Amino acid sequence: MKKLRLILGDQLNLKHSWLVEKDHNTIYVLAEMRQESAYVKHHIQKVVAFFMAMRNFYTALQSRGHQALYFQITDGDNPQDLEKIIAFCIEKYKIEKFEYQFPDEYRLDQQLKTICSNLKIESEAFDSEHFYTTRHDLSDFFEGKKLLLMENFYRSMRKKHHLLMNGSTPVGNQWNFDADNRKKYKGEVPVPSEKNFHTNVSKVVAQIKEAGIITFGNIDLDNFSWPTSREQSFEVLDYFCKNLLKHFGDYEDAMHTDEKFLFHSRLSFAMNSKMLSPKEVLETVIAFYHDNEIEITISQVEGFVRQILGWREYIRGIYWKEMPDYAKMNVLQNKNKLPDFFWTGKTKMNCMSHAINQSLDEAYAHHIQRLMIIGNFTLLTQIHPDEVDAWYLGVYIDAIEWVEMPNTRGMSQYADGGIIATKPYVSSGSYINKMSNNCSKCHYNVKEKFGDKACPFNTLYWNFLDEKKEYFKGNQRMAMMMNLLNKMNPEEMYKIKVKANEIITNMDSY
Ligand code: FAD
Ligand code: SF4
Repeated sequence: MKKLRLILGDQLNLKHSWLVEKDHNTIYVLAEMRQESAYVKHHIQKVVAFFMAMRNFYTALQSRGHQALYFQITDGDNPQDLEKIIAFCIEKYKIEKFEYQFPDEYRLDQQLKTICSNLKIESEAFDSEHFYTTRHDLSDFFEGKKLLLMENFYRSMRKKHHLLMNGSTPVGNQWNFDADNRKKYKGEVPVPSEKNFHTNVSKVVAQIKEAGIITFGNIDLDNFSWPTSREQSFEVLDYFCKNLLKHFGDYEDAMHTDEKFLFHSRLSFAMNSKMLSPKEVLETVIAFYHDNEIEITISQVEGFVRQILGWREYIRGIYWKEMPDYAKMNVLQNKNKLPDFFWTGKTKMNCMSHAINQSLDEAYAHHIQRLMIIGNFTLLTQIHPDEVDAWYLGVYIDAIEWVEMPNTRGMSQYADGGIIATKPYVSSGSYINKMSNNCSKCHYNVKEKFGDKACPFNTLYWNFLDEKKEYFKGNQRMAMMMNLLNKMNPEEMYKIKVKANEIITNMDSY
């Protein structure tokens, strides 16, 4: 039977069981499509990374003797739309069966189901063989539970997969070393220079422009740093183990204006495109830890394992449990628009300037920059979660809806009413001052709550608590903050509210 097998841009899994045998009756198809590149405005580096990784995957398929078709974005016969590409290939190659791997995005899942129901030939969907869990394992795990606590899920995953376990006891006799993962970085240990592949990407960038795809953000045409093949992905993993792992946990929550990446792995694109599996990453990291236990402590490794075995799988499970309603949630009824400086980086707030400019330059910011600087600001200024989601989905190299949306709309914007986070991740400037060196070089004064030089995070924080106090009144985890709010001097509070209103209506002048 002649088969057509679709491989989407984030399904670049060379270890998939589909590829074990070569079959001259099977044709694989990969396509760069306007449909996928234009549904939201993406960072130029993100489009380049996906196209390059897809092209390298296609070359790897061919060199292993598989039959494969590839549509580049500028090819004259590229139908640019998933349904048309499938129809075109079925007709041209007299295909008798169509096969695909379950997509990770709800939108594509629906589209492929519709396409298959309209096909006149047989079709079948297969697992992508990437994650530790299936789409619905998390729903089963929390069946009948009100609170979907990540920590409970994570511990069950550790036991189930025997990762960092001594029999039934966690290595280090503790499940979680979160409390050890909060050091401020003051330059006490040097940060190794970042791994960069210095790939020349002029050709693909020219093709993206020629195809009329509108992108944003910056790119260095001679020095593209992201891995775009399985070999390069392993190099990033190796680099992480040898150079960064020993301080990963300590500085996981730190920020520093001179260090964009600190000790973070930058493996998210390699994993989200499926060039590497989470299993390969964790097994490599844990084996490296066991070989180097004198130099590397358990708190560094546990911190890393928790992100991948815990958070990454949990976030995916929440996505499939809650979609499609999740995409519309906005419990705090936030409605403001993103300021222009999200696209230009022009703001006087030093912390925001660094986090946004870095995002525009690198298509990357690490977790705490995403959560406690940018996300904190958008929540405090009550931006509509649709706007926040679209920006995060466009800007980051690793942003695919299944992982971007629960992190952004849920964890960071509390738009899901606490499905992921039991309280909103908001803070005044003092947290930013504690975890970074931003405030010492800022135009604003982190100690002030109102007045011309007051740190906007301070003003906005108290205003946010006041505006949302009805919503949070029954939330025990907010009780301490609400008590402090109730004790505020009314005159001071009035000044804060006037100033906050001024900031929200003129965000671009701050
Ligand atoms: P490291 O710090 O080295 O962590 C290792 C790995 O752990 C990451 O590569 C990632 O695969 C995983 N991980 C860590 N935290 C999370 C998490 N919360 N959810 C899922 N995986 C996690 N991650 C994405 O992959 N895509 C996104 O679109 C995305 N959007 C985010 C939006 C917001 C508002 C926030 C707060 C977080 C978001 N994250 C997202 C999670 C996290 O910020 C990134 O995974 C991480 O910064 C990627 O960099 P790294 O590979 O250097 O990570
Ligand atoms: Fe950010 Fe406020 Fe610190 Fe400036 S003073 S860097 S705005 S937290």
